[in-house]
Amino acid sequence: MYRLLILLFASQLITSCNSVEKQNESPSTAMTIKVSDHSYSNVDEINTTHLHLDIAVDFDKKELTGVVRHTMNNTGVHRAIFDVYGLSIQKITIGTDEKETTYTIGEESPTLGAPLIVDIEPTTTVVNIYYATTDASSALDWLAPELTLSKEHPFLYTQGQAILTRTWIPTQDIPSNRITYSADVQVPNGLIALMSAKNPTEKNDAGTYSFTMDQPIPCYLIAMAVGDIAYQKIGENTGVYSEPALLEEVADEFADLQKMVDAAESLYGEYLWETYDVIVLPYSFPFGGMENPRLTFATPTLITGDRSLVSVIAHELAHSWSGNLVTNATWNDFWLNEGFTVYFENRIMEKLYGKEVADMLSVIEWQELQATTSEMINNGQAHDTHLKLDLDDRNPDDGMTDIAYVKGAFFLKTLEAAAGRENFDTFLKSYFDTYKFQTLTTEDFISYLDKNLLNKFNIEFNTAEWIYEEGVPENHISISSPRFEAIQQYAKQLKENGTPIPNDITRENHITQEWLAFIRNFEGQLDPEKMRSIDEQLNLKGSGNAEIMSEWFVLGIHSGYLDIREDMEAFLKKVGRRKFLAPIYAALAKTEDNKSWALEIYEEARSNYHAVSSGTIDEILGYEE
Ligand SMILES: [Zn+2]
Repeated sequence: MYRLLILLFASQLITSCNSVEKQNESPSTAMTIKVSDHSYSNVDEINTTHLHLDIAVDFDKKELTGVVRHTMNNTGVHRAIFDVYGLSIQKITIGTDEKETTYTIGEESPTLGAPLIVDIEPTTTVVNIYYATTDASSALDWLAPELTLSKEHPFLYTQGQAILTRTWIPTQDIPSNRITYSADVQVPNGLIALMSAKNPTEKNDAGTYSFTMDQPIPCYLIAMAVGDIAYQKIGENTGVYSEPALLEEVADEFADLQKMVDAAESLYGEYLWETYDVIVLPYSFPFGGMENPRLTFATPTLITGDRSLVSVIAHELAHSWSGNLVTNATWNDFWLNEGFTVYFENRIMEKLYGKEVADMLSVIEWQELQATTSEMINNGQAHDTHLKLDLDDRNPDDGMTDIAYVKGAFFLKTLEAAAGRENFDTFLKSYFDTYKFQTLTTEDFISYLDKNLLNKFNIEFNTAEWIYEEGVPENHISISSPRFEAIQQYAKQLKENGTPIPNDITRENHITQEWLAFIRNFEGQLDPEKMRSIDEQLNLKGSGNAEIMSEWFVLGIHSGYLDIREDMEAFLKKVGRRKFLAPIYAALAKTEDNKSWALEIYEEARSNYHAVSSGTIDEILGYEE
């Protein structure tokens, strides 16, 4: 599916040009640029097969400068179209002899950026684009030293998914085109660069680092981190990176990393990316984790000291199969990435920690899915509860909801129940093998499913209802957790009769998910006095566990429990993870008093957040710079 953007006259639309271009300015020519799957690129005519990045990182100017060299497969066309957003293009050459060429930058859309149209020969297979990033390069998060643990060195990381790679590298930014890449990166003295590629484990004096990624990936998975970062090996092909002061704690928290890789391989086949490392980034990182191949990016909010949030790492590891190995062809098929990953994550957790733990994780996710689904339906967004989405003309980030993740996973769990685990595992393993290093659409998946599972075992299944209709079909499997029921009983008695929680209950002898179930049992409202008595016994507000704190804060805001304010303020100024920030700010925005308090904090905290988070919070608070 695509929509057409008509560029009326090229001469009116040149927003940047070089000297060559001015000399050769051709008469106005009508051009039609196709937008397909959130990209302007003409990959059907000419597509990148490999890119080489040669860049320098300048922390003073907050700028990357250099050249990206695209090796391309050209069917014999006269123009190559790339996606760019917030980039300053300096010059473009073609061929290995670097013949300078002309180019045009089309009109910029607020969501997609602009097409960069490069004039080439029908025989051209190399395009070199010299460029610099700008303040509008929203993939990049430049952190001042104060925002790091050591407070001594600056830090930089990138976030490419969904369509932000075009804000730091001119690319054909479409998930269906897989490329290999290599890079040379120059960083200031004392810092190291890491990428979603073969990585160094030690700094060098020259500050020059070289990278290769030999397995073809969609370009949203190109990623980089630069800072004062150290490495520790965990197992045979696993390790962790973080700021030196946190490294020991990170290694302890993720001590099971090698076991996770082994468990995942035993389920769905060989890990095909050689090494698997995790880097823990500073607090501003907007997500729990990002599955950049070979090097998962993770939030420090996972470091709780009790390994209770390692399912996020199981999730990112699972993406090494679902998402990175087998990729959604378009962002409308995003559930193919995330639904499979949530399913697979839960299987890894079950294998390592048992069914009781895996079921608790599923129940928590199920509760979130219920809330999201009814909210969407009530807000007139029922179409967004379909697994297969229609995100044309919208930001693909709009599809990153519990629907793709949890409805997708429950679809697969329900299929598993219908087919039996053994048959389903065989099916999934061959699915990953059949489509490895490829992309596919929802419809490709449905025909593979029909042929290799449903028809094969004569199973009647309402696949179309799950994928193309709203809400969650009635045949979904249900999961319960006896441990949740026990702790919810205490919550119920406290709320209804004021019965205190038994003294032998401590925060430490229950896992994070049990506390979430406990808090959710109050259904958004509790007498502030009762909240205070819980805090006196369990200190949920100051627990240091971001999952627990954020839900406790939201309950406290709705209940008018003011004791949380100090901890909440510190939390909002430290943590940049969108999942936690959005519900807190949304709850605060509901009353005028709370909202003006929130705006004061946001004014100060905003520069600590990545654009992914501040974009969302700007909307929630109606904030304008
Ligand atoms: Zn994911």
